[in-house]
Amino acid sequence: MNDSRRPMFAANWKMHMGPRGASEFVAAFAELYAPRDDARIVFFPPSISVAAFRDASEGRPDLELGVQDVHEAVSGAHTGAVSAAMAKEAGVGWALAGHSERRREFGDDDATVATKVNRILESDTRPLLCVGETLEEREAGQLETVLSRQIKAVLDTLDGHGIAGLTYAYEPVWAIGTGRTASADDAAAAHAVVRREIEMRGGPADAVILYGGSVKPANIDELLSAHGVDGVLVGGASLDPEGFAAICSAGR
Ligand code: PEP
Repeated sequence: MNDSRRPMFAANWKMHMGPRGASEFVAAFAELYAPRDDARIVFFPPSISVAAFRDASEGRPDLELGVQDVHEAVSGAHTGAVSAAMAKEAGVGWALAGHSERRREFGDDDATVATKVNRILESDTRPLLCVGETLEEREAGQLETVLSRQIKAVLDTLDGHGIAGLTYAYEPVWAIGTGRTASADDAAAAHAVVRREIEMRGGPADAVILYGGSVKPANIDELLSAHGVDGVLVGGASLDPEGFAAICSAGR
């Protein structure tokens, strides 16, 4: 990580934490983790818990808020879906796009992810674009091809202003929720590919790229030490206030 930049710690709660759980988490986390200006913390609760999180975190603007997904349409007959503009109106500053669980379970392909990123940017919200290869793709030697395809599909639809507004998460699918973590060398190598692709398509050399995949207190120091890793996106280990507070305190 570039020493002059503050690391970013993001929590993806997936389908955990209803409104009550979100409020209780914030109360506990706020006790454990004092505001500090040398890190950026962003939570992605389920949409149904956004209001509860926002209310519980009043007075803690350092605990930023995002949604895990938005629909690719601006509005319309899309039962169960949430638009980027609605998320913004609810007080959200960030949105994930392209998480591998959305790609796998909900069929979000590269074109859909690109449209979602555009909707998020149009709503003056910050996209956190997730990319990463499956185990089969890695073993077939397709790491670079897959990362390149996923990044190109999005960046080719954006102008320079849009491209500058993106934050990235490299999440090897084989490390998500499996307990299997990429080594610092694996992470550094993949981040170098992601950074090269961003630069080749007109993005900034200092784009923020997080690592995600079974991050926990026991491996956070090693991962943050990997070259080009600017922070982490944490799933399972972000559900425990103590564990996530420990992760957010790492590297300093
Ligand atoms: C994720 O959902 O983005 C993630 C990295 O999950 P986990 O930390 O549980 O592997």
